[in-house]
This record gives sequence, structure tokens and C-alpha cells, in this order.
Amino acid sequence: MTTLPTLFLSHGSPELPQTRRLAREWIVELAARLPEPRAILVVSAHWVARPVGITAAATPGVIHDFYGFPPSLYELQYPAPGDPALARRVHVLLSEAGIPAREHPTRGLDHGVWSPLSLLYPEAHIPVVQLSLPKSDLSGALAMGRALRPLRAEGVLLIGSGGSVHNLHAVGMPGENEPWAYAFADWLKLAVEEGGVDWMMQRNHWPESMTLAHPTLEHLAPLLVAWGAAAEGARGACVIDGFDLGNLGMHAYLFPE
Ligand code: ZN
Repeated sequence: MTTLPTLFLSHGSPELPQTRRLAREWIVELAARLPEPRAILVVSAHWVARPVGITAAATPGVIHDFYGFPPSLYELQYPAPGDPALARRVHVLLSEAGIPAREHPTRGLDHGVWSPLSLLYPEAHIPVVQLSLPKSDLSGALAMGRALRPLRAEGVLLIGSGGSVHNLHAVGMPGENEPWAYAFADWLKLAVEEGGVDWMMQRNHWPESMTLAHPTLEHLAPLLVAWGAAAEGARGACVIDGFDLGNLGMHAYLFPE
């Protein structure tokens, strides 16, 4: 079985699959660059739990975990099968790394999972397991990613689903960006493509724009899961470079196999 890349993806607004905005097309176009995996493991910014949660249902279904959107959005489904054997495997890998985890036999997939997957793999034919973050911090996410490295050689595509720039108080009109949003996105690209993960993890390298770009860290943490699961010393390649709704970063990074 060939070894797979890992991916960090900005999932953007929940209504993205139903819009005609550019950001939707960027994710659709990214699908052509991705492999056809045996299964998909997604870490979403929208589930933070200790012990770490793993969906273990054979047919997980979806959760509409948002408020105030048009009714049609609450009818969207993503009927991908689950993969209880993969959930068990993830549980074992985390336990071996000393990370407490728990399988959830009935929980569904949140919008950080099904929203981008409905654009990347619209046929919903590949089994999907969702994993929570251990907490809203970067080092825990990195350790979890490293524990999951063996999965790349087992036909599993690991996706970290979050946001490159994510401050809901600064979401606005498409095309209207503030300087701090560009500043942080540029720094992040430099860190991922050139700096390396150890460089990025040093707080004294974090830019001033980081507190505005990420008032809390749960949308950035999935990047560290994807990066941690990549090969030692790997650098990522920016495969989506842009914003939606003003300052909402839509960047995606692919970490090679
Ligand atoms: Zn989100």
C-alpha cells in the first residue's frame, strides 16, 4: 500500500457547500490533487474532548452543530460509512503514545468534517472516522499527530480541519481584509513551507498578529495534527491560498507522503 500525504484544510463557513463563492471552488479543485484513500480520519476544530474522542459508529451520520443559518443547511447529509476497526486502531495508537482516548459508538460527524468532505469526496463512498482535539493548544495536537503517523502507510488519509485565520469577530465582506490577517497568513506560510514544525512551535517566533488571527487556538491546532503525522522534518506546500468573508483564512497545506 502506498504511503499517503496528510492535509490541513480551512473549512470556512458551514454554508460553503451551498454557496457559489470562490472558496467553495478552491476546495472542489483541490480534490483532483488528493489520492483515493481506503479511509479518512478527520480532526475537526469543533470537537475538543479529554479523553480524546473517536467516532466508532458503523454509520455515523452528521451533526448540524451551528445556529442561525438557512433551513436548507440543516437538511444536508453526508452518508459516508464509518469504520469501527479504524476507530479501534486509532484508539490503540493513542494509548501507546500515552494519550487517553474514548470511542463514541453513536456520535455523528460535525460540520468541520462533512462540510469539506462533501466537496472533496462528494460520493461519500469512503469510510470516515472523526477524532477530537485533546485541547485547544498546539503541543497536544502535535503529539497526537505524531502518534498517528503509522496510519499514512495503512491507506488512511489524515485531514486536520480548522482555519488558517479564524476570528469570528472579524468576519465581513469578501475581498475586505485587514493587514493583520495577511500578516498572519504570510507568517504561517513561511513557517509551514520553510521554517519547520519545531521553529513554528517556539512562542518567541509567533507574530503579533497571532492573537487577532487566533483569539483561541482550536482552529489552528488541526494543522499541527496533520503536520505531526507527516514524515519527520516534512515541510508543507500551500495548496489553497486565499480568504473568504473578509478575514476568514481558507488556506490549505499538503504534507507530502
Ligand atoms: Zn470552524
